[in-house]
Amino acid sequence: MSKTVSIAFIGLGNMGGPMAANLVKAGFQVTGFDLSASHLDQAKAQGVTAASSAQDAVKAADVVITMLPAGKHVLGVWQDVLAATKAGALLIDCSTIDVESARAAHAMATGHGLTALDAPVSGGVGGAQGATLTFMCGGATTDFARAKPVFEAMGKKIVHCGEAGAGQAAKICNNMILGISMIAVCEGFALAEKLGLSHQALFDVASTSSGQCWSLTTYCPVPGPVPASPANRDYQPGFATPLMLKDLALSQDAAHSAGAQTPLGAKATELYQRYLDSGASEKDFSGIIAMLRS
Ligand code: NAD
Repeated sequence: MSKTVSIAFIGLGNMGGPMAANLVKAGFQVTGFDLSASHLDQAKAQGVTAASSAQDAVKAADVVITMLPAGKHVLGVWQDVLAATKAGALLIDCSTIDVESARAAHAMATGHGLTALDAPVSGGVGGAQGATLTFMCGGATTDFARAKPVFEAMGKKIVHCGEAGAGQAAKICNNMILGISMIAVCEGFALAEKLGLSHQALFDVASTSSGQCWSLTTYCPVPGPVPASPANRDYQPGFATPLMLKDLALSQDAAHSAGAQTPLGAKATELYQRYLDSGASEKDFSGIIAMLRS
């Protein structure tokens, strides 16, 4: 896709703002819209052309990207802009939303003769700023190929996961594994403390043994063994607890509607809800070790 193409970017928050800025840096023409005037102003300062509405933003766009809080926002915005979107445009939703809404968004676009991809991301605000996000994409192979240069301006790893909704499915399965594995690692350290085993000794053994996983080796929930992990800065996010709980809740909705058994996913959702209710809205999700110790 040539960089002379015009991109509309709707939802310029913590993630969307820096993603749109990276598209500008890569040479794309980007017109943005956000309900928040301050987010729109920040994007403008990064070279995004500010539109007066979502419909205004999409008028001349070859690609329309949304980065919004939840499924209802995505369906609302897509419903609002579809009639104003030009023929042949590709709609891409990068938000993390439920699989059913993602499929409904695809169907809505197809119903208007347009094409669509679901393309949620991992990598957080740091990845959005540094253009190192991972994109997990659902949709037709031809649409994926067409969108790849756009993703490459914002991310490092771009994976085509399958048909409509497959990107969202990959995202919530991955994050359910993450939520469960973080609790497992926290329980291992909490038990080690009671048994008089040092953090470093458990890390040295488990990180090279069968207990090895990302939650341990990259994101260790106790200070010391992995200096860059949030545990070393009083659990400042990182990946904030409300976002982990959002993704776990999406995994449980999907498990329910697909008839899948995810008992550990259900327990992890319950534990993260308790952690959030204890006042952890500003804490990284690895901070759950404090609750598990008590
Ligand atoms: P955010 O709240 O910072 O940004 C969302 C933006 O959408 C806000 O600026 C809001 O004003 C705007 N918005 C809401 N409704 C709108 C509408 N109808 N029209 C135009 N703008 C509208 O959230 P975020 O952290 O940027 O997250 C966005 C999405 O990315 C979410 O789905 C989230 O789950 C996902 N995500 C976030 C992270 C993260 O670390 N923050 C990581 C991966 C995925």
